[in-house]
Amino acid sequence: MSGGWVGSNRRAELPPDWYTAIRPAVLQRDEYRCRNRIDGRACARPANQVDHIGAKDDHRLEMLQALCVDCHAKKSSRQGNDARWAERMTRPPERHPGLI
Ligand SMILES: [Zn+2]
Repeated sequence: MSGGWVGSNRRAELPPDWYTAIRPAVLQRDEYRCRNRIDGRACARPANQVDHIGAKDDHRLEMLQALCVDCHAKKSSRQGNDARWAERMTRPPERHPGLI
């Protein structure tokens, strides 16, 4: 009835130190430059976004990169399709009952 999105898991995707520690660390490491590559060349525009290279809940520094607003928006809008495909690709192969 009340409380709206208090129970939503939107924020649960990010660790508690995301804004205080992880995000600034990634931006600093990447020197606040967009790490996206366009036609083989680094975008290198000023970055203020941090993007998950792999899974959304993989917050290791090496799995994060700085992106500019444009590149992040482009990547996010594409992610719906990518996720659908990734789900299919990662389905475990069925085991052959005769090979145990
Ligand atoms: Zn960019």
